[in-house]
Amino acid sequence: MRKHIVAGNWKMNKTFSEADDLLNDIMEKLESTTLDKNTQLIVCPPFPFLEMTSDDSDDSYFLVGAQNVSDQEVGAYTGEVSAAMLESLEIDYCIVGHSERRAYYHETDEIVARKVDQLLKHNLKPIVCCGEVLEEREAGKQCEVVRKQIEEGLFHLTEEQFSNVIIAYEPVWAIGTGKTATPDQAQEMHAFIRSLIAGKYGDAVAEETSILYGGSCKPSNAKELFANKDVDGGLIGGASLKAEDFIDIATAF
Ligand code: PEP
Repeated sequence: MRKHIVAGNWKMNKTFSEADDLLNDIMEKLESTTLDKNTQLIVCPPFPFLEMTSDDSDDSYFLVGAQNVSDQEVGAYTGEVSAAMLESLEIDYCIVGHSERRAYYHETDEIVARKVDQLLKHNLKPIVCCGEVLEEREAGKQCEVVRKQIEEGLFHLTEEQFSNVIIAYEPVWAIGTGKTATPDQAQEMHAFIRSLIAGKYGDAVAEETSILYGGSCKPSNAKELFANKDVDGGLIGGASLKAEDFIDIATAF
């Protein structure tokens, strides 16, 4: 059975002490919550807080992800953070191709592909985001857009490499807007993504790939989104900044 995953993307929020408070709140809440055994919780704080967030004990409540990584291996790239650095901190996951990085930092599918390669080389699992903007949905082009992002960002991988990838479908018009895709819209796109994977890597790989939904997911809508057969969890932005909301979403399966 493929994993259910709920990943919190803190984006560029929280100071050191606020991050510490949020982590303590999450742990406190988790102590009185029973997560389904098949649910993996992931916290993706900003780079400076990765080390305080990561816990290498076997019974840690959640795993840790970064929000970005360099597409280069090492060297004179001021301000960048390499996959090798993340690996040395024992970080498990990394978000790639988030729509904010595509829109504000010109992250193309080609760059996404290189970042994915770096992550896999250094034993991190990429959480690869895809999704259309509003005009593309209104023009009925959402499948075309997502197909290109998936094919160009991921389909150079071998089957073995691909089995470490998590996909997050995030319609850009739903991110941070309070506007959520309907359960039917989410299911339709997730099934389409799974069919693309099946076409390239076969049914067994497609069945094992976790495909998350992201875009204004909150406690009040998580249950109906996660009830869909091809929705395997969520990438959560705003609602991951409140421990109670984040954990409520994680228990919505
Ligand atoms: C995101 O940025 O990945 C996201 C889903 O944000 P929000 O939940 O705030 O829409």
